[in-house]
Amino acid sequence: TTTINLKNRPVGTPKLSDFEFITSEVPELKEGEVLLKTTYVSVDPYLRGRMMDAESYIEPFELDKPIVSGCVAEVIESKSSDLTTGDFVTGMMEWKEKQVVDAKLVKKVNPNHAPLSAYLGILGMTGLTAYFGLTDIGKPKKGETLVVSGAAGAVGTVVGQIGKLLGMRVVGIAGTDEKINLIKSDYGYDEGINYKTTENMTQVISEACPNGVDVYYDNVGGEISEAVLYNINKFSRTVVCGAISVYNKTELPKSTSVQPFLIKKSSLMKGFVIFDYKDRHPEGIKQLAEWLQEGKLKYEETIVEGFDNIPQAFLDLFEGKNKGKMLVKV
Ligand code: NDP
Repeated sequence: TTTINLKNRPVGTPKLSDFEFITSEVPELKEGEVLLKTTYVSVDPYLRGRMMDAESYIEPFELDKPIVSGCVAEVIESKSSDLTTGDFVTGMMEWKEKQVVDAKLVKKVNPNHAPLSAYLGILGMTGLTAYFGLTDIGKPKKGETLVVSGAAGAVGTVVGQIGKLLGMRVVGIAGTDEKINLIKSDYGYDEGINYKTTENMTQVISEACPNGVDVYYDNVGGEISEAVLYNINKFSRTVVCGAISVYNKTELPKSTSVQPFLIKKSSLMKGFVIFDYKDRHPEGIKQLAEWLQEGKLKYEETIVEGFDNIPQAFLDLFEGKNKGKMLVKV
């Protein structure tokens, strides 16, 4: 079977040569194990952090070892009483066409309840991230203004819709006009701003938010966030979810210019990782599934075909090639 290893720790923007394809034998199944054939692989911006040898909330990847991310796979052989051939499972898996895992480390999913890919997006990590970040940290109130950066991405498309469900005015920031049209036509955003073609972001955000910004759901960090923060209201909340604009920087930009605004506005800024909400994941999934079933939530996917294209799909996240969740179908 083929495996994708981390060959080099990327410096700056990751390259295809940072990954290596190797072939190996599939090991024999032991009691309690299953043989899995990968169906969908999730590629995510946070994997960039794990490629660095730095202390974080999660162990770095080791060199010459497989990359691991959320996947959906089919059981093709089983020595576990919990799973049988033909079952589909999700969990953190290696970037491998086939692999043997302990059946206890994966979770069975029902392809009749939702399409398999949804378990990696709206009903998986990204849906939960949107839900808990917005509701628990953002503390949204009806009538308030929500600004979302990375608005057309996996997390952003969900955050905007939940904001609308909760009665907010929602403004999204994304990198192409096509994405701006999409978030407005399909995901309920009231306004959209293309940060690549807008010169004075602070001014344009203030025009799009005549009542100021009450909640800022931040997926990107950097200059875009600074421009949003110049427009925050008294007692506003900023959900620091991601900072993709700086993940590939070899030196972090230094800025402290928004701090006086946070003070003056008695504003809250809080970072989080979705694992913080581990114990509440079932509650989040239940709510997201309910909204999905009622037709109140939609989701967008960019699906790349072929195991060999996993590294390129990952690199494309940093070029904004995806709308909604970026996935690879093996
Ligand atoms: P997305 O689907 O949003 O994909 C990444 C998007 O980021 C791209 O499509 C691109 O869209 C945008 N982007 C890329 N480079 C830049 C840049 N330099 N400046 C501004 N935007 C950029 O990914 P996810 O929804 O999976 O993740 C969104 C964020 O949430 C990430 O920062 C991620 O790390 C974070 N995250 C955090 C979690 C947590 O537990 N805290 C869990 C999951 C995700 P565009 O065309 O608009 O530029």
